[in-house]
Amino acid sequence: MKDAAPQTIHLKDYAPPAYLVDEVQLTFRLAPTATRVLSRIRFRPNPEAPSRDFFLHGEALTPIRAAIDGQEVRPEITEAGLTCAVPDAPFTWEAEVEISPRTNTALEGLYMSRGMYCTQCEAEGFRKITWYPDRPDVMAPFTVRIEGDAPVLLSNGNPVGMGEGWAEWHDPWPKPAYLFALVAGDLVARRDSFVTRSGRTVDLALWVRPGDEGKCAWGMEALKASMRWDEDRYGREYDLDVFNIVAVDDFNMGAMENKGLNIFNSAAVLASPETATDANFERIESIIAHEYFHNWTGNRITCRDWFQLCLKEGLTVFRDQEFTSDLRSAAVKRIEDVRMLRARQFPEDQGPLAHPVRPESYQEINNFYTATVYEKGAEVIGMLKRLVGDEGYAKALDLYFARHDGQACTIEDWLTVFEDATGRDLSQFGLWYSQAGTPRVSVEEAFENGTYTLTFEQRTPPTPGQEEKKPLVIPIAVGLLSPNGDEVVPTRVLEMTQARQSFTFEGLASKPVPSILRDFSAPVVLEREVPRAERAFLMAHDTDPFNRWEAARSLARESLIATIREGAAPDADWLDGLAAMLRDDTLDPAFRAQVLALPTQSELAQVLADRGHTPDPDAIHGAVEGLRDAMARHLADLAPHLYESMRVTGPYAPDAEQSGKRALGNAMLALISRRDDGALAARQYAEADNMTLALAALSCLLRVGRGSAELAAFHERWKDDRLVMDKWFALQVMEAKPESAAETAARLTEHPAFDWKNPNRFRAVLGALAGHHAGFHRADGAGYALLADWLIRLDPVNPQTAARMMTAFQTWRRYDAGRQAHAKAALERIAAKPGLSRDGAEMVGRMLG
Ligand SMILES: [Zn+2]
Repeated sequence: MKDAAPQTIHLKDYAPPAYLVDEVQLTFRLAPTATRVLSRIRFRPNPEAPSRDFFLHGEALTPIRAAIDGQEVRPEITEAGLTCAVPDAPFTWEAEVEISPRTNTALEGLYMSRGMYCTQCEAEGFRKITWYPDRPDVMAPFTVRIEGDAPVLLSNGNPVGMGEGWAEWHDPWPKPAYLFALVAGDLVARRDSFVTRSGRTVDLALWVRPGDEGKCAWGMEALKASMRWDEDRYGREYDLDVFNIVAVDDFNMGAMENKGLNIFNSAAVLASPETATDANFERIESIIAHEYFHNWTGNRITCRDWFQLCLKEGLTVFRDQEFTSDLRSAAVKRIEDVRMLRARQFPEDQGPLAHPVRPESYQEINNFYTATVYEKGAEVIGMLKRLVGDEGYAKALDLYFARHDGQACTIEDWLTVFEDATGRDLSQFGLWYSQAGTPRVSVEEAFENGTYTLTFEQRTPPTPGQEEKKPLVIPIAVGLLSPNGDEVVPTRVLEMTQARQSFTFEGLASKPVPSILRDFSAPVVLEREVPRAERAFLMAHDTDPFNRWEAARSLARESLIATIREGAAPDADWLDGLAAMLRDDTLDPAFRAQVLALPTQSELAQVLADRGHTPDPDAIHGAVEGLRDAMARHLADLAPHLYESMRVTGPYAPDAEQSGKRALGNAMLALISRRDDGALAARQYAEADNMTLALAALSCLLRVGRGSAELAAFHERWKDDRLVMDKWFALQVMEAKPESAAETAARLTEHPAFDWKNPNRFRAVLGALAGHHAGFHRADGAGYALLADWLIRLDPVNPQTAARMMTAFQTWRRYDAGRQAHAKAALERIAAKPGLSRDGAEMVGRMLG
C-alpha cells in the first residue's frame, strides 16, 4: 500500500501510548494466500498518556471481525490502522484478519520464501500481520498458536504444546511487536545444548532446509561461544529453555534478533569450507554473536521509539566487535572496523544523507538502518568506554541492566546511567548523538626546553539541516616516540572539549615523534601534514598496531594521490617499508595482509574532493592499478617465498591463524598473477579444497583476462547452491574492467539464474556494480542508468532493499559536471516513477536535495 502524502515523524513529537498491553494471544491458520490471524489482546489505559485516543496500526489487512469484551464492534479503518471507541478501563480486544503471505514480496510482515512461512517485523512489519500498537514502547508477553501442514511450526519463547498440524508457544518476557516471529516449513535441525552458569540447560537448534545440514556446525559453535562470552564479559545469562535460529533465503537484512527465534539470511549463517570463504566464516561468527547479544541489549531493554535505534544497535555492534577482538586479533579487528567505517559511514556523514547517530526526523524508518546508526553508534560507545575507563564502563553497564531491565529506553537513560555510575557530566558528550557530520581535527606541534606541546583544533562541516556545529568531546589517544624508535610516553588519552586546545608533555630530552589517534580513538578525520619520512618512521616503529597500519596506509594514499595529480612514480620508501613489514615474521600474517590492502577508490575520490579537486574515477583506477604493478615488481623476489610459507597444512579451520595465513598467501598470489599471467592462480584453483583459495584464485584469473574455463566449471559445480552462485555472479562484476562492468552486470541480469526478487542475488549483481568505483561512475553514465533501471523495477516489489541500494548515488555531487548530469538524470528518473514507495521517495528526495 502506498501513502499518498508521506508524513515526517519527529522525535520531539513523542507521546506515550494511550493504552498498554498486558497480554497477547495470537492464532495463525496458515494458508499461502489466505492466512487467518486471530488476536486476543488485554489492554489497559496508560496513566502516563496525555490522551485516550485508541489507535491500532494495521496495513494491508482484510478485516473479518472485531470485538471488545465479547461485543462486536465496527472500528473506523484507514490505510494506516484503525480507531475505535473503547472503555477507559481494562478491556479485551479480539480481532480476526486475513493476509496473503505468498504475494508479500516486500519481505516485511508474514511472507513466504520458497514454500516456507517466515516473518520480519522490525521495524514496522507487525502491522502487516494484525492490528496492534506497533511501537517499541508497548511490551507484552505473547502466546502463539500456529495451525498449518508444515512439519515444523516455530514462534518466540518456549514450546508449550504441539500435535499433528499445530503448535503452541509462550514467551514470558514482555516484548515489543517488532520482536515477534513465526516460522513454518519443512525444516531440519542441527541440535546442541548449552548449560548456563547457573546450571540451566538450554536446548539449541539451527533450522535449515533438508540438504543444508552440513553447513550448520560453524553457526552452532559461534552461538555457544557467544552465550559463554556474554556471561563472562557482561554477566548476562540466557533466559529461555530454548534458542532457535532459522536460515531463510529471501531476507532483506543480515539477521533478526526475534526473542528466542532468531531469523537469519541464509548467507549470514550457512557455511562449509567448500562453499564459504574465511571472511564469510568470520562474518557469520560476528552476526550470530550480534543477534544473540541483542537478547539483553535490545530485547530485555529495548528502545522507546525508533529514534533511539542506536541505543540497541550501537551498543550491540560494539559488543560484537569486542567479541571478535577477544576471539581473534584485536588489532586486525580494529583495522577492519575502521576500514568499514571509512568506506560506509564517512561518505554518508559527508554527503546529502548525513544524519545524527540519533536522527530527529524520518519519513520511513527503514531508511535509517544506516552505517551512522550502527557503526558510528558503536564508535560513540567505544569513546565513552575510553573516557570512563574499563571499570567505569563495567559499573555503568551493570547499573543499566539493573535499572532498565524490562523497559523501553532512550539515549538520555543510557547517558544518565553513565553519569550516575561514574559521576561524570556527559552533557557535552551527548552531542555525539545529536550532531551529524565527521569532525576534522587539525594538529600543530611545538617543542621548547624539553616541553612538547600539541595543539588541536576541531571543526565539523555543515550537514543537511545543521549549519552550526558545537565542539565535541574527543578522546585523542597519543603516544610519543623518541627519534630512535623507543616509546618515551606511552599511550595517554587527551580529552579535547574545546574548539582549540593544547596539551603539554614535559621533561623530554629531544623532540619526539607523535603517534596521534592511536587505536583510532575517535571517529574523526585527522588533518595533519606529516612529512613522508615521519610516516615511514611510524610505519617501522610505532608500538600501536593500528597507527602502524595507518602510517603505511597514509603513505600508500599519498603515493596514489601524487600519481593521480602529478603522474608521480610510486613512493619507493613506502615500497621498501612494505617489504620490511612483509618480511617480519613476528607480525601476524592477518596484520600483514591488512597492510597490503590499498585505500579504496571511493576513499581516494573523497580525499581528492576534500582537497578541492574533482576526482576522476578513471585516473584513480589507473593509479591503483599502477601501484599494484609496482608492488608486484618490487616484491617479485619475496612474494613466491611468502606465498609458500603461508601454505596451510592439515584440515581446514576458519580460525584466526589459518585465515590470516590464507589472507596473506592470497595477497601474494594477486601480486604474482600480475607477472606470471595467472599460471600460479590456475594451479591454486585446480588444487583448492576450500572456497577461500578457490575464489581468490578465480578472481586473480579474471583480473588477468583468463579464467573463462574455470568460471564455467565453477558454475557447473555450484549451480544448485544459491549462496555460492551469488559469489559467481558478484565476482564477474567485481573483476570486470571499468569500461565493461556495466555491460557485464547487464549481461548477468539476463542469466536464467538471476532471480532479481531475491535480495542476495540482486545485490550480488547490482550491488557489485555499485561497488565498482570506476565501473559505476563511468563517464557516459551507463553504470548509473543500469542501476536506476533496476531500482525502478525493484521498488514496487521490495521498497526496503531498493531504497537501501539507492545510497550508491549518495556521492554523486563530488564528480565532474558530465557525471553529475548523468547521475542527476538517473535520480530524477527514479523520482518521477509513478507510485514510487515512501522508502524510495525519501531517499531520492534527500539525495537530490
Ligand atoms: Zn542489531
